[in-house]
Amino acid sequence: MYLVLMGLPGAGKGTQAERIVDKYGIPHISTGDMFRAAIKEETSLGLEAKSYMDAGNLVPDEVTIGIVRERLAKSDCQKGFLLDGFPRTVAQAEALETILTDLGRQIDYVVNISVDTDHLMKRLTGRRVCQICGATYHVIFNPPKVEGVCDKDGGTLIQRQDDNEETVRTRLDVNMKQAKPLLDFYEEKGYLKNIDGDQEIDKVFTDIDQLIGGLAK
Ligand SMILES: [Zn+2]
Repeated sequence: MYLVLMGLPGAGKGTQAERIVDKYGIPHISTGDMFRAAIKEETSLGLEAKSYMDAGNLVPDEVTIGIVRERLAKSDCQKGFLLDGFPRTVAQAEALETILTDLGRQIDYVVNISVDTDHLMKRLTGRRVCQICGATYHVIFNPPKVEGVCDKDGGTLIQRQDDNEETVRTRLDVNMKQAKPLLDFYEEKGYLKNIDGDQEIDKVFTDIDQLIGGLAK
């Protein structure tokens, strides 16, 4: 099964990726892991990527795509893979099509965990942190016994800059703008499958499992 996993930050992509990989034994291939491995193995593309990263620059597409090509050609990808964080752009998606055609393969599904952005905002902006001990709470999902006060030491709970409404909203907007053309591209190809991510974690996985289960037979 050849899968691409998509979803906004906070949509529960990491948890679902873990479950898919556990159940089906396919490698979870994230961009970060791929770069780290290529750099560690000192492949020529890995070293090239490192030189860009060390200089604080973005790794150019052709290097990234080369690293993906090498990774997907490895033997553990014979029966499938779960790509996560790649592709990010239509240009990368087109390159991925070429890579897979060369390898005699094709994407089965692009699994998009779609969530209501208002729900997501609530989830992402609800985190509170104790100023004294650093314990984390969530105003809805893990509230303290007394609002705004740490259960352990009575410390004041604050909202981190990263979790404030404006920061989160901007982060989501950027991600949605980036994902839109990619989702359209895959929709047109007929690969796109939207999964309702506003459900219990177990139910989200059941839905994914029902979709991809047939591919394992
Ligand atoms: Zn505390």
